[in-house]
Amino acid sequence: MMNHLKKISNPLLAWFRARARSLPWRDDPRPYYVWVSEIMLQQTRVAAVMPYFSRFVAELPDVASLAAADDEALMKLWEGLGYYSRARNLKKAAEVVMEKHGGTIPRDFDELLALPGIGRYTAGAIASIAYGKRVPAVDGNVLRVVARLTASREDVLREKTKREVEDALAASMPKDAGQFNQAMMELGALVCLPRNPHCEECPLTALCRARAEGTEAELPVKAAKKERRIEPRTVLLIERDGKFAIAKRPKRGLLASLWEFPNLAGEKKRAEILALCKNAGLSVQSARRMKAARHIFTHIEWRLSGWHIRLANPVESVREENSLYGGSPLPPLTWATQEELSEIYSIPTAFHAYMP
Ligand code: SF4
Repeated sequence: MMNHLKKISNPLLAWFRARARSLPWRDDPRPYYVWVSEIMLQQTRVAAVMPYFSRFVAELPDVASLAAADDEALMKLWEGLGYYSRARNLKKAAEVVMEKHGGTIPRDFDELLALPGIGRYTAGAIASIAYGKRVPAVDGNVLRVVARLTASREDVLREKTKREVEDALAASMPKDAGQFNQAMMELGALVCLPRNPHCEECPLTALCRARAEGTEAELPVKAAKKERRIEPRTVLLIERDGKFAIAKRPKRGLLASLWEFPNLAGEKKRAEILALCKNAGLSVQSARRMKAARHIFTHIEWRLSGWHIRLANPVESVREENSLYGGSPLPPLTWATQEELSEIYSIPTAFHAYMP
C-alpha cells in the first residue's frame, strides 16, 4: 500500500493548488479557525457551515472568548446546525486549553486528542493543517479515496482498517502534510464521490487500481453491521373466555398497523404485571411465565419475556383496558379466538412465540 501511495502526492498537490476551493478556514488556517471549522463540518456540509462559521468567529474570535462564552449565547450561535453536543464540547475544550495550555491550542496530536470532542481525525487535521505536523487526518472521504487507489477490500468501518490507512499515509505523505491532507479530503469531496466518481477528471486516474480494475463503484467495502439496540419487552398473552387480547399498532414506525399482543417496554416482574392488571380493572385468575424469545429487526433486537394471564372477569366487567399501556393513547383491545388469530389478524413473527 505504502509505495503505491508515495506516488500520489505530486499530482495530488498540483491538482489541489489549481482547484482548491477558497474557504475562510483554509485561507486563514489559524489553529482556532481550523478547530472550529472541523467541528462544524462533522456531519454537516461545507455550504451549510459557511455562514455559521463566519458568525461564530465574529462573536467568539478566539479560545479565550469561547471559554468565557455564555451558554445561551453559544447555543444561539449553533442553532440550526444540529448535534449540539459539538458546541458544548467546543466550550469545554476551550476551558481546558485556557487552564492547561495557557490559552494556546496544543500542537501535539495526543494532547489534542485528549480534548473534549476531538477524535483522531480532528486531532490530525489541526496538527497538520494549523501546525504543519506530519500526521494523517483520515475521515470517510480519505478512507474512500485510499480504498479505491489501492483497490483494498478491507472493511473501512473497522478501526483496524482506519489505523492501517493512517499508518500507510503517515509513511508516505510529503513534508507539507497539511496541504496533502486537505488535498485528499478535497479529492474525496469533489471528485472521488461515493457514487459515480468523476474518474475522468481525477489527477490520480493513472495511479488508481480500482479504476484500472473497473471496481471503483464497489469500493470502499463497508461490511460492518450496525450495532443493534437491545430492547427488553414483556408480552402479555391475556386470555378471557377462550379469547385473547390483541391491539393494533400505530400507523407509523416499526410493524406499523399490524396487530400485536399487548406488550410493555422492559422486563416486568410478576408483581408489576399483577399491579398493572389490577389498575386496569382486570381480575387475574392465574399468571404463568412463558418462555423467553428474541426477535431481530435491522437496527433493534427485542429480548422478549412473556406472561400468560388468565382473567376471571366476564366480558362486561373489563374496563379501562388501555391503562395496561400506562395510559398511552392506543387503540382499544380486541378479543380474538385462537382460530381468528391465525386466520383473520396479522400478527407479526416477532410475537409468534406467544401465539396460543
Ligand atoms: S480514479 Fe476514480 S476511483 Fe480512482 S481515485 Fe480517482 S476518482 Fe477515485
